[in-house]
Order: sequence, then structure tokens, then C-alpha cells
Amino acid sequence: MVPRYTEFTMKTGIHPEYVEAHVRCTCGNEFTTRSTQPEIHVEICSNCHPFYTGRQKLVDTGGRVERFNRRAARRRAAAAGNN
Ligand SMILES: [Zn+2]
Repeated sequence: MVPRYTEFTMKTGIHPEYVEAHVRCTCGNEFTTRSTQPEIHVEICSNCHPFYTGRQKLVDTGGRVERFNRRAARRRAAAAGNN
């Protein structure tokens, strides 16, 4: 016998309201989904994430990548001078 759940088994009064959510990404993409919040702001979405776009994109926070590149270039220049 396969058990059949014919009754509403979720407890009432303990779950947040599940509403239609409007999601806005910093890339300009907007879409709707379901969430407990009606408005969601995201920094990256499936439209602009490099995994989906196939393009290399640096998600740089506070210029850390730029600083690293500058430092690496300086180190390369110093190494070339020693040879
Ligand atoms: Zn996006």
C-alpha cells in the first residue's frame, strides 16, 4: 500500500508568507520568482554570471583584483630587471 497524503500536513501559523517576489539585479535584469520577500536585490544573476555567459568577468570588490594585478606587474618588472 502506498501511503497517500490527502490532508494538509503543514503546520499553520509557523511559516512566513510565500509571495511573488520581484528580483532586480545590478546588471539590469529583472525577473519574478517566489519568496518570502516581495522585493529582492541581487548583485549577480543567471543573466550576468560568468558561468552562464561564458565570458570572463571579474566580480571585483573594492578594487582588490586591480591591486593584485598592479602588484604582480611590479614584481614581474623587478624580476626582469634582475636578469
Ligand atoms: Zn545580473
